Amino acid sequence: MALFVQKYGGSSVADAECMRRVARRIRDTQKAGNRVVVVVSAMGDTTDDLIALAKQVNPYPDEREMDMLLATGEMASSAVLTMALQAQGVKAISVTGRQAGIHVDSTHLKAKIEQIDPERIKRHLAQGYVVVVAGFQGINRDNDVATLGRGGSDTTAVALAAALKADRCQVLKDVEGVFTANPRVVPGARKMDEITYDEMLELASSGAEVLQSRAVEFAKKYGVVLEVLSSFVVKPGTLVREEVEEMESVIIRGIAADKNQAKVTLRAVPDKPGVAAGIFKALAAANLNIDMIVQNMSEDGRTDLSFTLPADDLHKAQAVLEPIMKKAKAADVHFDTGIAKVSIVGVGMKSHSGVAFKMFDILAANKINIEMISTSEIKISVVIRAADADRAVRALHDTFGLSRKPKAKAAAKKAPAKKRG
Ligand code: ASP
Ligand code: MG
Repeated sequence: MALFVQKYGGSSVADAECMRRVARRIRDTQKAGNRVVVVVSAMGDTTDDLIALAKQVNPYPDEREMDMLLATGEMASSAVLTMALQAQGVKAISVTGRQAGIHVDSTHLKAKIEQIDPERIKRHLAQGYVVVVAGFQGINRDNDVATLGRGGSDTTAVALAAALKADRCQVLKDVEGVFTANPRVVPGARKMDEITYDEMLELASSGAEVLQSRAVEFAKKYGVVLEVLSSFVVKPGTLVREEVEEMESVIIRGIAADKNQAKVTLRAVPDKPGVAAGIFKALAAANLNIDMIVQNMSEDGRTDLSFTLPADDLHKAQAVLEPIMKKAKAADVHFDTGIAKVSIVGVGMKSHSGVAFKMFDILAANKINIEMISTSEIKISVVIRAADADRAVRALHDTFGLSRKPKAKAAAKKAPAKKRG
């Protein structure tokens, strides 16, 4: 008997009709001879609505209270789905993050899973139940509920799959899998059959909203085979795993755009040892995730320093930076929310040259100015104006030929090994 962990996202459980459909899908999975653990997100836009509600009464709501509020979304959907399953004659039970034995650290709103005690879930499975777990939440050392960051139900699902040694973790969504680019932006975007953990990780952390990046990290670390597939139609989705067939022949696997980034520029900071360390130490202490960093050439012993971070964290960064800037007698801080980060990702980049040139060239041909650049072994990201982002993604998708299916395995072997330039 195989064990499946199935995760259903918010739009798959948006209303009663969706709940009934999902319940049928789970029933069919169980009837095919499998044991099933289900992880659900909050119904529809519940989480967004709850955040909006909180901000109406307090522009900077307390994070512990936010977690108390947001965790209710997943609790509600797990109970409703369980009722739908029971109505269809399926023996089912819902559990909260706490009841599922999910222990997290004490960072509110982006808590990390530290440990899972899956005994209760195992017991219910042995009793023949479908266990429906409220995603996105765990319990911290203070016995407080904490949530795992936006999209965190993915991480709940993968972590449970690892803890339960499930045969597969299926993430069921309102899309058919992982696409080469956002199909709403690029009409020719194509569903991929397979993608490596590393590529998925880079895409997820570059703004592709298909999976939470922490979930992919977890899957890679514990070798959980992840499948992203449609909750509406029954057909194969995208498999995320260590190795895929046409690994090297595909230079660019996918393109992502992140419009929720902001750029901070610190002007005329003293150019001497320890200054950058001091700034980033303070940002780290405030739990701010900094992405790209660029330091300009120094003039008269002073330099400009720019970095990007999630736009939502801007007010926190502001509070941290102002005293530091005063102390350092720096000129000023400038905040820019009109940016987007566009990234191209592919493991084949390691063995092909000229990829960066091709990217910059096509952006130039489209008169799109590049403000910042960063690279990893398998990714090139640029910061551009947000208004140019969709145009950039379409041009890149076209240039790198992503609408075509990748070549067969034999062709891959012949690809010459060259360095990217
Ligand atoms: N409901 C949460 C969110 O919208 C968690 C999730 O959907 O995974 O971010
Ligand atoms: Mg959601």
